[in-house]
Amino acid sequence: MMGDNMQTKQIYLDDSYLKEIEAKVMEIRDGIILDRTIFYPASGGQPSDTGLMKGKDDYRVISVEKGEEIIHKVDKLAEIDEKVLLMIDWDKRYAHMRLHTAIHIISAIAMNEFKARITGNQIGDTGARIDFNFQDWNSDISKSIEKRANEEIAKNHEVSWGYMKREDILNMEGSVKVDPRLIPNLEILRIVKIGDIDIQPDGGTHVKNTSEIGELKIYKIENKGKNNKRMYFTLSGMSQE
Ligand SMILES: [Zn+2]
Repeated sequence: MMGDNMQTKQIYLDDSYLKEIEAKVMEIRDGIILDRTIFYPASGGQPSDTGLMKGKDDYRVISVEKGEEIIHKVDKLAEIDEKVLLMIDWDKRYAHMRLHTAIHIISAIAMNEFKARITGNQIGDTGARIDFNFQDWNSDISKSIEKRANEEIAKNHEVSWGYMKREDILNMEGSVKVDPRLIPNLEILRIVKIGDIDIQPDGGTHVKNTSEIGELKIYKIENKGKNNKRMYFTLSGMSQE
């Protein structure tokens, strides 16, 4: 994200479809810090990528964390200045991209048509859950949301990204669907836009077109109390127990 002062260029923000890239080991700190990476670090409800680094040896990437730096947790450490080929577990990442983009569609519909905001979300490998601050909640609402989400997905909306001043995006009506305190305090924010239905600050990975999401199915809803309703969904081609 622009404004971050870290050693690692976050290539996944520019091209979320890159499955392999070469990189250089910059530092060892509880894991490997690279000059650039395609490994997405766990953040914003999207789990970290896993995969392989091939250098003098094979290093299995177990998880990736983002603090002041992006740290790749591996089964064994590489050496500083070592050149490595990064290979992400693509099937898993692509599932995360489809689910993540689907969350945008659901959040836009929830806000625009039901006046509910997302208060949390967690993406898994075969589905995702979203928490909302709906006042009222019943299975009819989830059926309407599912229907509307599938209508929007079928419109083949293009998904694009860019950068905007924080104050401009926060002042744009309907652009903030999460608690504003969850948005990074940077002057310039990365923005993701889905056709004419959604625009919001975002540091995740997405598909290029909503057609890639496939069919969405809400398979469970939970009432977690006043102003806290939880919804679970999956997408076509994902095996959900
Ligand atoms: Zn996103």
